[in-house]
Parts: sequence; C-alpha cells; structure tokens
Amino acid sequence: MNLQDRINEIKEILNKASYEYYVLDQPTIEDYEYDQLMSELIKIENEHPELKTSDSPTNKIGGEVLSKFEKVEHSSKMMSLSDAFNYEELKEFDVRVRKEAPTATYCCELKIDGLSVALRYENGGLVLGATRGNGIIGENITSNVKTIKSIPLKLSNSLSIEVRGEIFMPKKSFHALNEERALNEEELFANCRNAAAGSIRQLDSKIAAKRNLDAFLYYLLDDTSKTQVESLENMKKLGFKVNPYFKACSTMDDVCAYIEEIASIRETLPYDIDGIVIKVNEKDLYTKIGETVKYPKWAIAYKFPPEEVKTKLIDITYQVGRSGVITPVANFKPVFVQGSLISKATLHNEDYILAKDIHINDIVLIRKAGDVIPEVVRPVLEERKEIVPFKMIDKCPCCQTPLIRKAGEADYFCLNPNCTEKIVNRLIHFASKPAYNIDSLGDKLVLQLYEAGYLKSIADIFELYQHYDALITLPGLGEKSIKHLLEAIEVSKKNNLNLLLFGLGIKHCGAKISTLICKTFKTMEAIKKAEFETIAEINDIGEAIAYEIVAYMNQPEHQELLNKLQELGLNMTYESLEVHENYFTNKKCVLTGTLDSMGRTEAKKLIEQFGGSLTESVSAKTDILILGTNPGSKFDKAKKLGIYIMEEPEFLEKIKE
Ligand code: NAD
Repeated sequence: MNLQDRINEIKEILNKASYEYYVLDQPTIEDYEYDQLMSELIKIENEHPELKTSDSPTNKIGGEVLSKFEKVEHSSKMMSLSDAFNYEELKEFDVRVRKEAPTATYCCELKIDGLSVALRYENGGLVLGATRGNGIIGENITSNVKTIKSIPLKLSNSLSIEVRGEIFMPKKSFHALNEERALNEEELFANCRNAAAGSIRQLDSKIAAKRNLDAFLYYLLDDTSKTQVESLENMKKLGFKVNPYFKACSTMDDVCAYIEEIASIRETLPYDIDGIVIKVNEKDLYTKIGETVKYPKWAIAYKFPPEEVKTKLIDITYQVGRSGVITPVANFKPVFVQGSLISKATLHNEDYILAKDIHINDIVLIRKAGDVIPEVVRPVLEERKEIVPFKMIDKCPCCQTPLIRKAGEADYFCLNPNCTEKIVNRLIHFASKPAYNIDSLGDKLVLQLYEAGYLKSIADIFELYQHYDALITLPGLGEKSIKHLLEAIEVSKKNNLNLLLFGLGIKHCGAKISTLICKTFKTMEAIKKAEFETIAEINDIGEAIAYEIVAYMNQPEHQELLNKLQELGLNMTYESLEVHENYFTNKKCVLTGTLDSMGRTEAKKLIEQFGGSLTESVSAKTDILILGTNPGSKFDKAKKLGIYIMEEPEFLEKIKE
C-alpha cells in the first residue's frame, strides 16, 4: 500500500471512530487503538508535510455539535492535549519545552476520564454550561450541568468568570447504571467516559439528574495567579471542586515518579482516570511556548497503557441461557487483571470467535473492557504452536438437542422446552431479586430443588408447601430454613404484576418494559388479550418487543402456566407504585426477635415499599432497631450504640402513617 492510501485508510477509520465516540457516545474501537492510529498519522504527516491536508483528523478537536442542542460560541478555544505513551516521549516534550523556557517546572494533575465542560458565571450566578464540541462551538447543556451537585450555582462573590473542567461519572454510579441497563435489556455503556457523555448530552435534564454525575474543575480563565498550582488553590477558594492529587514537580524525573505513584493507586480511585496531565506550572511562559491549532505546547497528556495480560486459553465451554441461547465462554489459566483474578470471559457467539480467529490452546491477551468486564482481546498469533480452528458445537451441551441458528441472527438456540439448564436458569431468573424477588430462593437452592424433583416449572414454586415433610430432610435444609422459604414464597404472591411479567423471562421484556406494559394494561388478563399493534404503539416499545409478548401469550403452555399461577393466588393486577414517603424513607432498619403480626420477609417488604431498608446486622449506620420477642445480641449492640429501639406496636403505627 502506498503512503497516500495508508493516510486515506487511517483518516477513514479515525473519522468514523470520532463520530461514534463524540457524537453517538458509542465507540466501536478501543481508545488505545485510536491513539495508535492517530500517532501513526501524525508521524507520516511530520515526515511528509506535503501530504497533510487542512481537514486532517490531526487538526481536529472533538466532534460535531449535536443539532438538538443550542450552539454556544466559546470565549476562547477549548483545546485538546497532545499525547505521550511512554517516558521517552515525555522527555522529548521536556526538551521541547526547555528549548523555549529553560526554567520551566511542571504541575501534574490526574487526567479525569470524562468530558470537558465550560462554566460561565455572571455576577456570581451560573449562566452557562457548555460542552467542548469542536473547540470553537459547543453545545448548551446548562440545565443538565445544574443537576450536578458539586457545581456551585452561586458563588460567594459576585464574580463574572469562566472555569473549565471535566464532568465525569463515578465508578459506583457507572456500575449501578449498567446493572440497571442490563436489567432493562438496554445497551451497556462501554466505560465511565461514555456513560458521562451519554448522560449529559440528553435533552431531558431529569435523566442527567438521576445519573449522579460529578465534576472536577482545573482551569480558571483570566486568572492572575502566577502558577497553575496557585490557580487550582484559587479555584478551591472560589468554591469549585478541584481534584486533590495535583502536584508541583521541578523535573521530568519527578513527573515520572508521580506517574508511578498514581498508577499504583489508580484502581482504588472512585473515578476513572486515563492518564496524567503535565502542564508547565509558570503561566507567564505559556505565550512563549505557544500552541498548535489543536493543543497547547506547554501541556501534554501521559496516557496509561491498557493493561493486557497474556494467558493460555484452555477451553471453550458453553452456557445455555434461559431463552435457550448458547453462549461460548473462554476458560483460561487464571490471571490478575487490574487487581482481580479472572479465568473466564464471554466469547459472545460463533461469528465473534471466527472474526478474532481464536483457537483453543492459543496464548491470548485478556483485558477488562471498560475496566469491568473481562474480554479476550486477541490471540497472540506469533505464539501459536498448533492450528486447531474453532468449530462451534451443533448440539445443546446440556440436552444434546440439535442447535438452531436463525437466518440473520448471530446466536444459536436450543429449542428443547425440557432442556435442564434452560429450565433451571429460567427458575433462577424468576426467583431473583430484580424479578419476583423470593427471599432465600437463591441459585443453589433452585438447582437443589430441581435436582430433587420438586421444582420443574414456575408454578411448582408455589406448591412447594405440599412437600414440607420431605423438604426439611434435604441436605443442608431444615425446619427453620424451609419455614422461612415457604413464608417468603407466600409473601411474594402479593408482588406487583410487573415483577411477575419480568419473571416470566419473555425475550426483550426487561424490567423497565414489563413495568411499562403493566402500567398500560393493568391486569394480566388484559396483557394476554393485548393486540400486537396496541403494544407496539406504547412509547419506547417497538415491534420486536410487541411480537415477543404476543407470541409468548399465544402459546398454550404459557396460558396454562398463567392460569395456574392465578389459581395459586398470585396477584394478577398492577398497582401504580408511586414511592410513598413515610417515616421509614431512607432509614436503615434491623429486626431482632420475632414479630407477632408478621414475618421478617413481610416486614422487609413493607419497609422497602417506603424506601427504607432492612439489613442483617447492627452498625453505627443503623437508624432503627425493631424489637420483636426473644431478641438476640443485636439488641445489646443497638443499645450500646445508642440506636433508636422501636417496639412492635410503634412499628405497626408508623407503617400505617
Ligand atoms: P484527550 O482526552 O486525550 O485529552 C484532552 C482532554 O483531557 C481535555 O479536553 C480535557 O477534557 C481532558 N482532561 C481531563 N483531565 C484534565 C486535566 N486535569 N487538565 C486538562 N485536561 C484534562 O483528548 P480529546 O481530544 O478529548 O480526546 C481524544 C482522545 O479520545 C483520544 O486520545 C482517544 O483516546 C479518545 N477517542 C477515542 C475514540 C474511539 O473510537 N475509541 C474516538 C475518538 C477519541
């Protein structure tokens, strides 16, 4: 390939990746891959300036401005940063800086992995929040920015200033958001950066408000401070949240030591960082050192290398999901990646394995995608010793039924309705917390009861009481645990209809969709009779979901199951669950002893209904100890800690309020 073709090829990949990353907030290639291609293009353009065009991605900052937002012109260009991927490149940067400013020292800051924001204050009040956009024009996201608690709406002084910084999503919020999205069968965010960008670039600020975003500020425009360190201190005084890890360093060796120090604690930080930003500390040197069209020459971003670990792929095994979908799983020699020991990673489907050319016995590179989910990056082809191409299984690993792959779909399915793994996974899903939430009916117990022959369908769960005498003799179970289980099952029958619908495990019908359906139709009877068009018309529900629901409800065995569940006394109507606030809202409760009026599970459900929680053990964080008869040691501990003790009559009264 000649040089011009290579340039065109790289430009095409970078332009497509930039659009997906900046505009759609859905990247399809890894940052590292993007950075490598950008470095290659910069190198070619430096060596052959005659091949550089003005529209080159090496000249471009960020992405397009979305038309759904009002456009904002920045008061001064919001720039990007040039990158360094190793200490060698940092030293070259140091040489370039010292050529212009021999006395320069540095200020090192964490490179927060979020998206840049500009905040304008007039007479002390926040009047504008804008994304970087293409550096000159950004998007007006003021109403979303106002939902971020750490961004002051009013400053203590009535100043007119502009500050810039990074909006980010803390790791904890990111995991919670992805968990919720998985439950709702929505596409997951690849990492904290994309989740933050996807949340702040929403027209509905209620969505941004729910996403627990945060912001660190690092640049105060028109500041008279002499150094960047002073400027950060100044920003703190003005009431802005400044990341505490900044540090003044006299030499590049000090900078490298700082990088090592931060790399060792990176995992423990509650937010994601993708590198370290090194800025010349003395602000009066900036004009002398200068800038390019894209970045200042007095700063650079050291990017952490992605942690990829080599290991041997021992085997590919297969899981049968509750819908019968077959998922190949890579089983490799356990390795530590970013602090946790992992030995398995999903390989998604046949096409994925073939595209990556993965063979059993290969040495493979493993990393955590978006720092969370383990992923096989690629086989190390140079270390491949034998060629045993991958071949997808054609029979269900559980029941040996021939697998089916429908035209246009990537997945294989086991269509045997009696496949054990499918049934067990379906039961596990039904009883799980986000679904029917049957306290104490966990994965292991489901499997044990299935193997003992007491549990084959969802309806069997509600007839377990008939086998009481036999159940208490099962290994590991006794009178106490079976009584507890049966009580939890009985209480669960009152569950709202959306939990039942979600528990059935209908394809595409996640927790959110189930609630939407129930809100619309109100009863199971109405859902059973609902027509395709009526379901498809509901906002957020497309034809694919409507098709699956109608198909499920039309199958005779499903109709039989639903009739049986109704006979067994399960609630079949939907009650709108506006969270009712009362005394227990946000209170952490612990129960000791037994209550006369209800069991533990029912008490828990009641408290949770009001937005409180009932946990197992007493700690300083407990708000209330609910006292039943024959209390245990929790009572003594609560007294010692001075926790409020509530007896049963008061508990009942407060619940009623
Ligand atoms: P950048 O993220 O590499 O660096 C510049 C940005 O760093 C600034 O704009 C600012 O928002 C941020 N930053 C965080 N902490 C900072 C601090 N303390 N001080 C100053 N700035 C700080 O550059 P970019 O132009 O925003 O994005 C380019 C990068 O985005 C690429 O290097 C690549 O990693 C990623 N990208 C990935 C894809 C993809 O498809 N995966 C596509 C486009 C871009």
